[in-house]
Amino acid sequence: MPLESFQNIFAGSPLDRAGERRGDGAWLAEQAASPHALALAMRDGQPLIEDAPEGGVRIAWLPARSAGELAGEVKPLFLGMLESNPVFAIDLQGADTPVEGARFEDLRSLALRLAPAEASISATAKAMFEWNRRHGRCAVCGATTQPAEGGWKRQCPSCQSEHFPRTDPVVIMLPWHGDRCLLGRQASWPEGMFSALAGFMEPGESIEEACARELAEEAGLQAVRVRYHSSQPWPFPSSLMIGLIAEVENDRATPDEAEISEVRWFTREEARLLLAEGFEGMRAPGAFAIAHQILKAWADEATPGR
Ligand SMILES: [Zn+2]
Repeated sequence: MPLESFQNIFAGSPLDRAGERRGDGAWLAEQAASPHALALAMRDGQPLIEDAPEGGVRIAWLPARSAGELAGEVKPLFLGMLESNPVFAIDLQGADTPVEGARFEDLRSLALRLAPAEASISATAKAMFEWNRRHGRCAVCGATTQPAEGGWKRQCPSCQSEHFPRTDPVVIMLPWHGDRCLLGRQASWPEGMFSALAGFMEPGESIEEACARELAEEAGLQAVRVRYHSSQPWPFPSSLMIGLIAEVENDRATPDEAEISEVRWFTREEARLLLAEGFEGMRAPGAFAIAHQILKAWADEATPGR
């Protein structure tokens, strides 16, 4: 039975990561040599895509063996099994497009144009390459680390430490009071853009506590009830967005002026307009963003959610 959950863009990968088998070097080599093996090429975090005959865009899959040659000394990343097809990704840093008619494109701009399954596969590859690139040295002793398990682990040959890919949790929340919710904006955002408040979780706090702290810091609000909506892998470079809807004590909000330059309360009707065509020169993030989805969930509720 499929998992029942709200699925944000970049979640919902169809791949079986085969985590219990990717530590087996012989098995991995067998998968890489398979005539059915496919590879996603990436450059600087951008997947190689092509126009799909039916319209839109799709991943420009390469046969894994020729992809391996393109990658040279760089080991391909094992992404998992798509039914019986092994799927890899290669990091072609600085290379030209290896296929005529295909091109590298920014993942944010592709988020809603790729099929959700392909957006998710691309997001995984981007996050993994980024992690491997940034963790070439052991965080314990400083020696150069080596990739293992198809790229899902780095090992230190000097102190024997093992390093695993990191995911940084971010709470992103929509505060509401009575029949209105609050959105904020940062001065650096495009004009008229309002969004949910957000911040990195800190060690030693629960998700609810991080949400309450951020609401207090950024908008001077006191959370009284925090409800989970959904989460979203956000590979820029390695975040996990945790989407929350939080009831707050009162509507006296003050922007911190450091991160948040302006805050504003919106009714459900105004929120629906923000999400659709905009409202009085203001707008909310697009459907690829979890901020859009939590605002939509709240705006569509008939009565205040508890
Ligand atoms: Zn070390």
